[in-house]
Amino acid sequence: MSVTVGIPRALLFYYYYPQWKTFFDHLGVKTLVSRETTRGILEKGIKSTVDEACLPVKLAVGHVLDLYDKVDYIFLPRIVSTARREYICPKFLGFPDIVRNNINNLPPLIDYSMDLYRKGSSLYNLFYTVGRQFTHNPARIFMAYKKSIESLRMHCQEMEAGWLPFEAGGNHNHEHRPQSAGVQDVTIAVIGHPYNIYDRHISMNMVKRLWDYGANVVTADHLPENVFRREAGKLPKQLFWTLNQRMVGAAFYYFDRPEVDGLIHVASFGCGPDSMTGELIERFARQGSRKPLLNLTIDEHTGEAGMVTRLEAFMDMVRWRRQLDDVAATYY
Ligand code: SF4
Repeated sequence: MSVTVGIPRALLFYYYYPQWKTFFDHLGVKTLVSRETTRGILEKGIKSTVDEACLPVKLAVGHVLDLYDKVDYIFLPRIVSTARREYICPKFLGFPDIVRNNINNLPPLIDYSMDLYRKGSSLYNLFYTVGRQFTHNPARIFMAYKKSIESLRMHCQEMEAGWLPFEAGGNHNHEHRPQSAGVQDVTIAVIGHPYNIYDRHISMNMVKRLWDYGANVVTADHLPENVFRREAGKLPKQLFWTLNQRMVGAAFYYFDRPEVDGLIHVASFGCGPDSMTGELIERFARQGSRKPLLNLTIDEHTGEAGMVTRLEAFMDMVRWRRQLDDVAATYY
């Protein structure tokens, strides 16, 4: 009997979907991804979650609701840690419980823990436990796991080559920056959580807008892990939140790159780690860089008009600063 596993298009979907899909495909299990975010999906999530939750968590609940009556299981790994001696935010850890406590008549959740904090912990344990739910053949699970790791590696390589993980039609297609579609005379680094900057509804299509304004866009995901870790290592104390370490390291790196003309930091309202990350990035900008920095905090009430005005003003500032620098370089 064939079963379908639902995968919400939320949180770490933007990093791990290729791996998860490959794993289930090789086990012969069908997957269904929730639709791209709409106002309706977001509103359902808001209604079913406490006010104190951050926007990405409310949205993730909306994506579970988009799936719950269409699938046999929902895949919601309890993500505790994705790297040694680091944690993902506690809201990830508690997310399966948030869902259970707020949604009735759920299909079974596949919510085994992914916890790589301690030496000797293994990702295979998670995949093996999930795989056992669908087959008793350990060799098949192992092969599916190996293929899934390959898929994740390719995904990371594509990101480092400059692709962004947008989706089309439920498949994880990649949409390349349209370098040839027009003149891109400035480069903007967009620094934020993947679930904020790659979700077109939540970000109000920020990346596409920047392309339309003639900007080339780079993100933290275009950098190899060793680069953002090295840059984040400039802080006197290591950040123990993996995603924020990635963001801070990327911001430090891009502030130093001559080809990057400005940075946009996108934060979620109600996110503790983001408020600290924003402060660190801003201090670095004030001390060591002349590059324009725009801090954008988004929540469910953020209006498109306000966002567009701020982006346009920022782009004017970036070009104005660039002209001043070009003039200064001519005369000195
Ligand atoms: S890191 Fe911030 S935005 Fe992300 S889930 Fe945690 S609180 Fe929410």
